[in-house]
Amino acid sequence: MKLDTKLIHGGAEPDPATGAIMTPIYQTSTFVQESPGVHKGYEYARTQNPTRHALQNALAISENGKYGLCFASGSAASDAIIKLLSPGDEVIAANDMYGGTYRLFTKIFEKYGIKFHFINMLDANEVSKFINKNTKLIWTETPTNPMMNITDIGAVADIAKKHHVLMCVDNTFASPYLQNPLNLGADIVVHSATKYIGGHSDSVHGCIIVNDEKLRDQLAFIQNSCGAVPGPQDCFLILRGLKTLHVRMQRHCENGEKIAKWLRENPKVDKVYWCGFEDHPNHNVAKKQMRGFGGMMSFTLKDDSVEAAKKVLSSTKLFSLAESLGGVESLIGHPATMTHASIPREERLKNGLVDSLIRLSIGIEDADDLIDDLNNAIG
Ligand SMILES: *Cc1c(COP(=O)(O)O)cnc(C)c1O
Repeated sequence: MKLDTKLIHGGAEPDPATGAIMTPIYQTSTFVQESPGVHKGYEYARTQNPTRHALQNALAISENGKYGLCFASGSAASDAIIKLLSPGDEVIAANDMYGGTYRLFTKIFEKYGIKFHFINMLDANEVSKFINKNTKLIWTETPTNPMMNITDIGAVADIAKKHHVLMCVDNTFASPYLQNPLNLGADIVVHSATKYIGGHSDSVHGCIIVNDEKLRDQLAFIQNSCGAVPGPQDCFLILRGLKTLHVRMQRHCENGEKIAKWLRENPKVDKVYWCGFEDHPNHNVAKKQMRGFGGMMSFTLKDDSVEAAKKVLSSTKLFSLAESLGGVESLIGHPATMTHASIPREERLKNGLVDSLIRLSIGIEDADDLIDDLNNAIG
């Protein structure tokens, strides 16, 4: 079955009680047992819930994976993955990553004795240099937030396999529609489903997809023990979002391409970071591992003052100034003070994340209207 069909039909069975075609919101905390231990597969809603169950299956299918696990947020999902590790273990992570994940690693888990190496993964071979006997996990995000760097998932996965190290890909920016890391050799895929998968900016949600049963069992144990689970209402919304992911992503990609090219031609714009440009440093890798280049991009102005950037950021009318991304509506953001403020300035600058960088999440409105809006704001 093709992805477009799987996104709509994957994991969904008519409701066994009523035949409802849409999985109902099972708003219940517990489930009545016939006699002690005799039940219909559901005991307590932290452990299992039918709405969550349907979503977990649908998400697994969307990533061509075997098992899905849902969490209260993308951050809670990332947190669960690091909880697979023990003090003394080491992680190699891409140095250009979502600020909240960097904060989770450095401010929460370093305290518990887990060591993180943040490295440039543009060249996959760099990874080998940091592997030692304590390395347990390689973590990458691709495309990265907000510099749109591309990691060669297959090449890093080969290195991970050779050294018996787990490899995790944060696939939030690509979504299951553009890229499936498990097929490229990764062991774990994590998403902030708050973004493209949900797609309507109406809930916060995270998920993990894996193929290995033992890994699933360990993660399910963490999910149940730590309890960062989503409620059934949010699961319902994410399940609904998933059904239109492919049509939304097609438009995100079309609009993204038009706007990236337009920005590049604008005399006031300096650099445009978008992985669809042929001269993007890892464009060939993006072409190989992605089905499209998406609607996320960043740019700088020729006037590289923060004031000039702030003027654009506060002048758009259709692009709303807000954190987050991947919704149907276009957003504009300032990584240095918003999404990436939790990364020290020196670290940001090392990765090219200058104070005047502007990030766009291109929505699915009419591209000409979006271009008009940017044109007026850039002036
Ligand atoms: C938003 C985001 C996260 C965190 O997800 P939440 O749902 O906000 O907790 C992780 N990774 C990436 C790439 C993100 O954009």
